[in-house]
Amino acid sequence: MVAQWDVAVVGAGPGGLAAAHAAALAGARTIVLERAEHPRYKTCGGGLIGTSLSWAAARLDVPSRDTVSAITFTDRGRRSFTRRATDRPLLTMVRRDDFDLAWAGAARTAGAEVRQNAQVRSVDQDADAARVTLADGEVLSARTVIGADGSAGITSRYVGVTFAQQDLGLELELAATPGDRASYRGRVLLDWGYIPGSYGWVFPKDDQLTVGVIMAKGQGAETKRYLAEFVRGLGLSERTVLRDSGHLTRCRDAAAPLRRGRVIVVGDAAGLLEPWTREGISFALRSGTWAGDVAARTRTPADLGEYERLVERHLAPEMAAGRRFLRLFTKHPRLMHAAMATPPGWRAFQASCRGELSMADVLRRAPVRAAVGLLS
Ligand SMILES: Cc1cc2nc3c(=O)[nH]c(=O)nc-3n(C[C@H](O)[C@H](O)[C@H](O)COP(=O)(O)OP(=O)(O)OC[C@H]3O[C@@H](n4cnc5c(N)ncnc54)[C@H](O)[C@@H]3O)c2cc1C
Repeated sequence: MVAQWDVAVVGAGPGGLAAAHAAALAGARTIVLERAEHPRYKTCGGGLIGTSLSWAAARLDVPSRDTVSAITFTDRGRRSFTRRATDRPLLTMVRRDDFDLAWAGAARTAGAEVRQNAQVRSVDQDADAARVTLADGEVLSARTVIGADGSAGITSRYVGVTFAQQDLGLELELAATPGDRASYRGRVLLDWGYIPGSYGWVFPKDDQLTVGVIMAKGQGAETKRYLAEFVRGLGLSERTVLRDSGHLTRCRDAAAPLRRGRVIVVGDAAGLLEPWTREGISFALRSGTWAGDVAARTRTPADLGEYERLVERHLAPEMAAGRRFLRLFTKHPRLMHAAMATPPGWRAFQASCRGELSMADVLRRAPVRAAVGLLS
């Protein structure tokens, strides 16, 4: 059987659209199948670290809502202090509806077909091709299927991805008053939570503030309580709530598969995200781009192994380092707060926000390695 498409991508978030962009640019006949219609809301802080920003800015005009140069740290709502970056910004804030829409435009411009309102129900394959079946019964065949349908998607189940860590993130989009806009413009707030391993954030997006918390799955009532107390402590309880949503994040087992024959998984579908901060956009953009590029160039399923090697070489060490930081943070949350107040701690945090140092690079620094080893 001759496949209709070289590459079929399931899901049009950053992972799937980066994959489609790369595959189409490399000359592959590429289709993306997305169950929703862009612009669509996605529960996400929309904080782009430097790695995400540079990856995106090379391919599209990033629809930035704010540029962040200051971070306020609080410990369970107290002991507040603010650090400012004097030379270059630290983070860029986007709304995911704008950001993903811009990526869909870039993928189309590169030559991919982006089909919306197209929910994929199942995936299978034989020796010649992989097939996706849509909710309306249509079947499409492709030489390679890239699963980018997020943390609860069908492709990770098909590939057999297993997860070492699962967390629940809750977020509110609040209408910002003029006072809020003046107070938070160019500044985010991070709070180390009272449940070990949890934290909260306030991210500015023009006329909205995204306020969220995250902690290990299975503590739904505690997570809600943390969000309510956080919002109250910030004096934001009276703001109009524009959105109130939650989403699971799942980090892969180090040994979990990334591929089953002709079907490979990227981004959240592969459980690729940083375990401490749960930053996932840079992981989705990088893994998606590599998958799209490899899929466009390869003829046999075995050749797709190059994608697995790229993830293993570049993303696995970052995840391993993130796991170590999460363990340390869970055990000594107050120490992490104190570390941000020190010049070396703040320097390392800034470099990591800007994408100049990965978590793995930070951990390779002799004093950090020694301290983490001792405290763990
Ligand atoms: C509360 C919270 C806050 C976060 N904040 C940040 C942050 O500030 N910065 C950061 O870098 N990361 C953040 N993340 C992580 C980030 O949101 C994800 O890592 C990122 O969205 C992963 O992108 P993706 O393309 O892999 O998947 P997704 O963005 O989840 O995209 C998957 C797409 O697949 C579609 N889909 C699903 N099933 C099907 C199907 N069967 N058929 C067709 N389409 C389907 C969905 O509609 C969706 O469009 C946060 C996560 C949470 C939960």
